[in-house]
Amino acid sequence: MIGKERVKKIVECLEKMYPEAACSLDYTDPLQLMVATQLAAQCTDARVNIVTKDLFEKYKTVYDFADAYQEELEQYIRSTGFYRNKAKNIIAACKMIISDFGGKVPQDMESLLKLPGVGRKTANLLLNDCFGIPGIVVDTHAKRLSNRIGLTKNQDPEKIEYDLMKQIPRDKWGSFCHQLVYHGRAVCNARKPLCDICDIKEYCDYGKKAASKPKMK
Ligand code: SF4
Repeated sequence: MIGKERVKKIVECLEKMYPEAACSLDYTDPLQLMVATQLAAQCTDARVNIVTKDLFEKYKTVYDFADAYQEELEQYIRSTGFYRNKAKNIIAACKMIISDFGGKVPQDMESLLKLPGVGRKTANLLLNDCFGIPGIVVDTHAKRLSNRIGLTKNQDPEKIEYDLMKQIPRDKWGSFCHQLVYHGRAVCNARKPLCDICDIKEYCDYGKKAASKPKMK
């Protein structure tokens, strides 16, 4: 973990770079975000947004999803990969929302985690983006950047979540994670981070190491 002052600088830099950072999945209510997030596993958000355009036209309510024929739902979501499992989980989650939660997506972590296909990442995203309850969303970008910057030494998403919770101010949890995603896509790429042009390089463990290495001529 790194010092408070460095964390403050990193948070400030990211806010300055990505003031409008938000979830890149298209949705209009918690149910749609829950479905879209399940589809986004092992798939790009751009692909999910193409798929959900038609999907949300066909299935408008939690009852529509709960009553769906699995094979038909599978056809809509096929291109997102792992479509059998995803269809099964979406139908089961919607059945549970109706039977256990009065037809509304629940608004607490414990209940959300009971829904088939919903893990901490999806639960935190729902809490944060739909219900205004701060949550740390650890996706592949948050995992990579947190490790490179030095905010964690863990690979397990839940441990990373707790490391970030200790260091990032609570009211910034949601925006910080969205900003990590933007920065991961634009600058801190998985294959080759562009440390030379990165605004947080002087506060980042990886960036500082890269700067101290002699450049190849
Ligand atoms: S300095 Fe490099 S490793 Fe650190 S956040 Fe920036 S691009 Fe990523």
